[in-house]
Amino acid sequence: MTETTGTDSRPDPLVALSGVNKHYGALHVLQDIDLEIARGEVVVLIGPSGSGKSTLCRTINRLETIDSGTITVDGRPLPAEGRELAKLRAEVGMVFQSFNLFAHKTVLENVVLAQVKVRGIPKAEAEQTARELLERVGVGAQAEKFPAQLSGGQQQRVAIARALAMKPKVMLFDEPTSALDPEMVNEVLEVMRSLAAEGMTMVVVTHEMGFARSAANRVLFMADGRIVEQNTPEAFFTAPRTDRAKDFLSKIL
Ligand code: ADP
Ligand code: MG
Repeated sequence: MTETTGTDSRPDPLVALSGVNKHYGALHVLQDIDLEIARGEVVVLIGPSGSGKSTLCRTINRLETIDSGTITVDGRPLPAEGRELAKLRAEVGMVFQSFNLFAHKTVLENVVLAQVKVRGIPKAEAEQTARELLERVGVGAQAEKFPAQLSGGQQQRVAIARALAMKPKVMLFDEPTSALDPEMVNEVLEVMRSLAAEGMTMVVVTHEMGFARSAANRVLFMADGRIVEQNTPEAFFTAPRTDRAKDFLSKIL
């Protein structure tokens, strides 16, 4: 990827990784990752299990530290700790395979809590925002229930609403539909599609190739800790260039 120079008129990327390396002991899990994500861009990250997709996502909100290289979000290096780190985690929303809702709080409380604690928003305003977001993801009627009373698809939509309540600049989705029964996958993908259409910057790890084709601006293919290939979904799926990508696609398509 080319470097931004003083004469380059491109807007700054929202997320930028440069020369990022990470090891788990002897395992070189991220190898020289260079990646710039533009504002409003939707990037789908695919690749074999163990290739480093989750680790890459988690470095962007500093759930994982890196050994070398730099990561910036909106032009600023990631803070190491304290209030600044909490703020970064709010700005970089993350939705996991397991929904991670607080089991002993209602759906509404789940979406209110961090707004009050991290953003310092008054409770009444946070509740108003929460109700609007729950409506938007189609679970407004479930606000007073507890997570266990909801289906998996509903819980995952609550998790998305909870992340959105923090007014994130970018949303990371790590296999958000992998734990769902098949009939619930689409209701979650629909919410993600509408977010993408509204201009949210998104990084999505998924095996849902239909979503990648319809919503992604760019597909990144990872293998062994490297970004091996990247292209538009159309070009990537019809004419993958590397043997690794061809082999991967032949197994999943
Ligand atoms: P993916 O999401 O593409 O399946 P991951 O990023 O989860 O891959 O993992 C990449 C590699 O790093 C795997 O070999 C995995 O076993 C290893 N790994 C992930 N997390 C840890 C950890 N906390 N400690 C040690 N090894 C890890
Ligand atoms: Mg993973």
